[in-house]
Amino acid sequence: MSFFGKTRAPRGARRSPTPSRKDSAGSEPPSPGGATSSRPLYLCSPFADAALVKGNFKTIVMLPKYVDIMEWVAVNMFDFYTNLNEFYGVINEACTQHSCPSMSAGPSLNYLWTNQGGKQAALPAPTYIDYVMSSIQNLLDDENVFPTKTNQAFHPSFPATIRTVYRQLLRVFAHIYHAHYQQILHLRSEPHFNSLFAHFLAFGREYELLEVKDIRGESNAPVGVGLLWERWKEAGILES
Ligand SMILES: [Zn+2]
Repeated sequence: MSFFGKTRAPRGARRSPTPSRKDSAGSEPPSPGGATSSRPLYLCSPFADAALVKGNFKTIVMLPKYVDIMEWVAVNMFDFYTNLNEFYGVINEACTQHSCPSMSAGPSLNYLWTNQGGKQAALPAPTYIDYVMSSIQNLLDDENVFPTKTNQAFHPSFPATIRTVYRQLLRVFAHIYHAHYQQILHLRSEPHFNSLFAHFLAFGREYELLEVKDIRGESNAPVGVGLLWERWKEAGILES
């Protein structure tokens, strides 16, 4: 569903649509240090399939009746940002300039930061993520981008802004899966983190925010979580 060219209806209360239960999958997680294969842990059973929401994510991303699409996208993006920021806050002691000298998301993939002048720079992951999260926070705080007053219209550039925000959040997910899944497992948060990511992907697909090249990467530099995306599509958790 595209949300270009729509006007908005009066705003309701912002409410988080992401399931926030923190139940574990019910089984004792194996030791994160026990993996011997070269396959990343997040692609191994049971971790790859641990999720809080069973079944397909399509139903929770669909636009509810009588809700304006701009408003729905805004609320959900706010929620993805908040949840992801919370996860990163918990694991960020492990994400240092030393452990993560580049913004990696695969064995041969390092994202470059594009500054305001259009110049690209290789930054350590914590610096890159700090820039991403601060810039999104600034947008969320900007009434011209995320209006909070009733009957205040969204700017026509809102969809383009949201696409950029989505791509940057995807990169943060990709880095955490690639470099910090051990910490997620250590906290036994993999069902919650997988659910958040699957929800994020399903939402991106539904509202045309997810670019296939962003989740797959290049053939010589694939995005690690691209395989997780494929796996969830095969399992029917995500739409293909
Ligand atoms: Zn890191």
